[in-house]
Amino acid sequence: MTRKILVTSALPYANGAIHLGHLVEYIQTDIWVRFQKMSGNACWYVCADDTHGTPVMLRAEKDGLTPEALIARVHGEHARDFSGFYVAFDNFYSTHSSETRECVEEIYARLMAAGAIDKRDVEQYYDPVKRMFLPDRFIKGECPKCGAKDQYGDNCESCGAAYTPNELKNPYSAVSGARPELRTSEHYFFKLGACADFLKAWTSSAPEGAGGRRRLQPEAANKMREWLDSLDDWDISRDAPYFGFEIPGAPGKYFYVWLDAPIGYMGSFKNLCAREGIDFDDYWGRDSDAELYHFIGKDILYFHALFWPAVLERAGFRTPSGVCAHGFLTVDGAKMSKSRGTFITAESYLALGFDPEWLRYYYAAKLNATMGDIDLSLEDFVARVNSDLVGKYVNIASRCAGFIGKKFGGRLARTDAAWLGEFRDAAPRIAAAYEQREFGRAVREIMALADAANVFVNDRKPWELVRQAGREAELHAVCSEAIEAFRLLTLYLKPVLPKLAEAVEGFLCVAPLLWSDAEAPLPEGHAIGAYSHLMKRVESARIDALVEANKESLAPTAAHVQVGEEISIDDFMKVDLRVARIVDAARVEGAEKLLRLVLDVGEAKPRQVFAGIKSAYDPARLVGRMTAMVANLAPRKMKFGLSEGMVLAASSEEGPGIFLLSPDDGALPGMRIK
Ligand SMILES: [Zn+2]
Repeated sequence: MTRKILVTSALPYANGAIHLGHLVEYIQTDIWVRFQKMSGNACWYVCADDTHGTPVMLRAEKDGLTPEALIARVHGEHARDFSGFYVAFDNFYSTHSSETRECVEEIYARLMAAGAIDKRDVEQYYDPVKRMFLPDRFIKGECPKCGAKDQYGDNCESCGAAYTPNELKNPYSAVSGARPELRTSEHYFFKLGACADFLKAWTSSAPEGAGGRRRLQPEAANKMREWLDSLDDWDISRDAPYFGFEIPGAPGKYFYVWLDAPIGYMGSFKNLCAREGIDFDDYWGRDSDAELYHFIGKDILYFHALFWPAVLERAGFRTPSGVCAHGFLTVDGAKMSKSRGTFITAESYLALGFDPEWLRYYYAAKLNATMGDIDLSLEDFVARVNSDLVGKYVNIASRCAGFIGKKFGGRLARTDAAWLGEFRDAAPRIAAAYEQREFGRAVREIMALADAANVFVNDRKPWELVRQAGREAELHAVCSEAIEAFRLLTLYLKPVLPKLAEAVEGFLCVAPLLWSDAEAPLPEGHAIGAYSHLMKRVESARIDALVEANKESLAPTAAHVQVGEEISIDDFMKVDLRVARIVDAARVEGAEKLLRLVLDVGEAKPRQVFAGIKSAYDPARLVGRMTAMVANLAPRKMKFGLSEGMVLAASSEEGPGIFLLSPDDGALPGMRIK
């Protein structure tokens, strides 16, 4: 029976490069989709760049581009990286599209009609300098639990506490450095709280015709049960300025990410439908008999397992057949790190000549259907690719194909030997492993067969048979059977190694391999082409180069830093830096950027200093604070009075603001800094 299947991967945000962590998901999904297509199912794989939101808006502004120009550039980079790793979307689109807008507006209209939308006032931080409401990630301050400085508005990286931005102490805007103000604005909400009963049933059920397979993985379903007890209504709007779709009938209000990005799955599919003549409702209508799977990272499970099905249900669409969540990638057992060079971009991997199928194979060998993290051990990567792919799999063809060409005119003898029966019998087991996303199990099965084929070749020694008179028929049989084993291994590995499989299909002179081709052996007399080497070994030295390259390429801001001319210690010691206490701070009438500070540096009389920090600091909050100053700078007469020194602050041309320096607790006014 031919199944109709629609598959998605999570939408990459149009604001950064694809790295090896992202590729876990795209490679996982691509392998599953390729397996479905090889099995004769009607399977469509769509994705899109997630283009909307404040970060894209601000990044475009910083780069001096329109958001449209930025997302077009990033789309080109993402498409290049995905195709470089043979991730074969049927459509890789953009959420900034007329199709997505149509779907968003239709869903919103249906939700309104169903009474599933609410409006209420929300108090949110507003940046008075930048004149915009700030997303949580753009508000920083001191952790309300542990007091760690410069923590984001949603959680503390120091103690792990989660909180709302309103709980941060001494908050500041990461955009302008200004102290944000709480302002009230009307927001739109999706009434998720009213969907608890539906979601309780949905998260624990199996869709029809799935053979009892649940919609969620067991560990995901458990997690959802915790969350289902406290479902809050979901904020779906943001105020201008915002890059996205404006809410119809609500000027200045925009659809926020969760009522926009996942609908990009539909928008991308709609665009594909127009191109391929597919019926959209056949896949998304309430009565659809198609299967719908979302492959995602475990970090966005809440949205895909609760918010998204609830929205679809209330809007009268079908809900997903399954949400397939995977864990995160670690490299050498640790979180990916820019400073260690393990935050490896797709682009750098390919640019350094690494074979994308090495990574596809390595990930496949490690992937299973759980949400556990997977580790890319660089040493193990080299060992496994070299031993499995080159040493075991390719080796079978490289040791036998030449004899067929040289001795037998490229024609095979019979290939239906009894020992190959176990190779054919394995097909349903390997298929089941792919279907269940147990790719590691599939790879183990396949490599066990590769071992058996190598044992066969080692025992029969074609390189000795060729030198022995009267043993041609045996040589012909051994090599032909080994080639058939190699064909079957290629077929089983094809979802993982599509490019290599294509090369093998060319060499074996066979049509593109389908799963059903496992049943029928190559016929006696079939002519194969000349063998040429199929895969190189990974050299460990090149791994070091890859890590080195990513230490640099991922620190662009560091690369832009121009350190000034070298000076001697004596030169430095001429500058008398002192700890200062800010005794008073005030705005200066008529000065756009300046604050007037009165500083205690341990002298009899405090000093007056004018500092260009007005955009970043509320004077009232500076009083009592410690900072650092240049105490021996020649006094300067300014329009507003005498400036007797200079306070020290950090800033950069790219933003995000001005940051006054301060000594650790315990330092006293007048202490020398050196
Ligand atoms: Zn903390």
